[in-house]
Amino acid sequence: MVAGREEALQQVREAIADLCAQPLAEDQDQQLAELKQTRHLIDLLELDSAAQLRDVTAAVDSEEMNDLCNEIRHQCHFATGQLWNHLEVAANLRHLPQSVAAVEAGEVGYSHLLHLARTAAKVGSGLVEGDPLEFARENSPGKLWYRCRYEVHRFDRERDLAEHNDDYERRFLALRRQEDGRVFIEGLLDKVGGTAVEVCLRGLARRLGPDDARTPEQRLADALAEVSMLAMDSGVVPQRGGTRTSLVVTTSVETLLGLAGAPAADLDGEPINWKTLERLSCDCSFTRLLLGPDSEPLDVGRAQRTVTGPRRRALDARDKGCAWPGCTRGVRWCAGHHIVPWARGGGSSVGGSLLVCWHHHNKVHEGGYRLLRQDDGKVVVVPPMAAIYSGVSPPLVPGAAGGGGPASLRSSGRRSMIDLVSQPHRAVAAASAPTR
Ligand SMILES: [Zn+2]
Ligand SMILES: [Zn+2]
Repeated sequence: MVAGREEALQQVREAIADLCAQPLAEDQDQQLAELKQTRHLIDLLELDSAAQLRDVTAAVDSEEMNDLCNEIRHQCHFATGQLWNHLEVAANLRHLPQSVAAVEAGEVGYSHLLHLARTAAKVGSGLVEGDPLEFARENSPGKLWYRCRYEVHRFDRERDLAEHNDDYERRFLALRRQEDGRVFIEGLLDKVGGTAVEVCLRGLARRLGPDDARTPEQRLADALAEVSMLAMDSGVVPQRGGTRTSLVVTTSVETLLGLAGAPAADLDGEPINWKTLERLSCDCSFTRLLLGPDSEPLDVGRAQRTVTGPRRRALDARDKGCAWPGCTRGVRWCAGHHIVPWARGGGSSVGGSLLVCWHHHNKVHEGGYRLLRQDDGKVVVVPPMAAIYSGVSPPLVPGAAGGGGPASLRSSGRRSMIDLVSQPHRAVAAASAPTR
């Protein structure tokens, strides 16, 4: 080390020790003024250490650089990211004479210089310091960071385009089916695609009323499922095998009727419980298939909708959106819910149905909540425990009292299968166990 620098460092050490030994000012304004001066001194030392790094690394080739950086990190107690930041400044000091002078004068901080250096690293000698430096004088390092992201385009739009294309090439979305049937989603999207997804899902993921206790992450997950269901329901998803893309559920009639001892239903190769089946079949159209003992189709019935055109329009007009008190989801996002499940005799009359959104439809089937329409038209929610203790029953609808389900589902003595293609286009196929 040059003797002059070593001597100067010793003087700085002594001066710092002397500074630290001084009592702090009692006046807050004075404290802030002194803090500003201290930070400026630190910035000056940072600037000096960047210049040292520049000189230390100047003659080192790329193979030796890693070893040298490890040594510097170890000797100088740098965190890895911190060292890379300093190296960025060190490598670009020559492009930033005005900015260095501004740090020396205390007009901007070393953090400002870091963002300017990162921009210079991309633009090189093409960077015109004037505008971003002027901005840095008036704004925080955080705001400068945003500003600098725009500067690259100004000085080197071809590079900005190349970066965009590089980002776009690295986009991916992985959907991994776990052993338990849930789907793990992982991905990285480019700016435009990612923004579209984020704006769409966040718009849908707002709380649905004051009692919406879902976490933000759960609301986003529900929003993604809702968008997917609406896309299929709208028929805009490309066809698969000549038919509109839909969910396909296969189940026994016993499961559809909610009988104890019935096997789980099947959703695209995954078992689903009877309550989920009940929800999915709430707003579907059915096609009945009768199968012979060898599972060959004997008869294919006509599709019949559970909540169909005029009834659905009447439901839309009456409920104007999800019927759950306080929920703001509009009609387009809602399914027609049968207060008594269709398969157990609940008719598709407007009086026996309610519009519910994805989240609240889940609550009234799998969650065990009940939605009841009072005589005055008001809808009330009965939580599961309250339903048990109060003995509240859902209102009876015509056809429910006799039980046994719709005629098409009653035991025919033959193996039967039922396709339910939703209104929109969720399809449920039900196959009963052979009856003797
Ligand atoms: Zn339902
Ligand atoms: Zn709702």
